[in-house]
Amino acid sequence: MPELPEVEGVVRQIRPVSIGKKIEAVAVSDVIRLSKENGKEAIIKRIEADGFIERLTGAQIVQVERRSKYIYFTLRKDNEFLLVNHLGMSGAWFYVDQLQSIPEDKFRRHVHIVFTLSDGNLLAFSDIRRFGEMRVLQQEGDFPPLLLMAPEPFHEGALEHFLALAESPKYKNKAIKEIIMDGQIISGCGNIYATEALFKMKIHPKRAASRISRKRKVELFESIVAILQESIRAGGSTISDYRDINGESGSMQNRFGMYGKKQCADCGTETKTLKIGGRASVYCPTCQK
Ligand SMILES: [Zn+2]
Repeated sequence: MPELPEVEGVVRQIRPVSIGKKIEAVAVSDVIRLSKENGKEAIIKRIEADGFIERLTGAQIVQVERRSKYIYFTLRKDNEFLLVNHLGMSGAWFYVDQLQSIPEDKFRRHVHIVFTLSDGNLLAFSDIRRFGEMRVLQQEGDFPPLLLMAPEPFHEGALEHFLALAESPKYKNKAIKEIIMDGQIISGCGNIYATEALFKMKIHPKRAASRISRKRKVELFESIVAILQESIRAGGSTISDYRDINGESGSMQNRFGMYGKKQCADCGTETKTLKIGGRASVYCPTCQK
């Protein structure tokens, strides 16, 4: 699942090819239309396919930004509004001259939303598993969960926010891994980077927050920030279906010490897996206490 670095990579690529351009036409796949007709909400949320098309057609792309794991497109048509996108498990954007130019068949076959831009190129959203989301919002608060997201991890105040919540009665007895993966506590850190940061800090993923000193919590937070930044520089991690808008994979996965490993990269011990917060957590029983 794409986490902060992967979403950041996509945003950095979409920005230069889309800002200032107009969405001349919008196409929605039959799969999505059928899902919505059957009362399901695949990808496009809270608005009918035709309403979605009508709202976006003719809008100019004013800004493209990342907020946590979301992509915010600021659009203008009469007035400004937002298209908020989450990549879900396998969402990917492609900027191509025609759909046949999308590099891999599996992505080509699962294109669900296509914007024809005023430069004649297409900005296409492919989503193999269809857990991605698109919401048309007048403002961020129209989808209240967005307002609950923790500050950006690189921004001032994010560390204090993390410490305050991790030491609060509600969370202090919870497993540290569950805490750092909670988007209301730290923005954008999912299973991959939480696993790596805890391994680097030699902290057992199930250790309660209250059993980690404040100094170590600060170091853990700094380690998460460093790993997120390292991954942004490496183009993100390609675990299964993450691709950037040119169909390229990131290389951060080659630097993992623990995520997806059978053996500890440091001591060679066989790794163990625990379920924490519903997610498989890999750790080294020797190094992580
Ligand atoms: Zn080890």
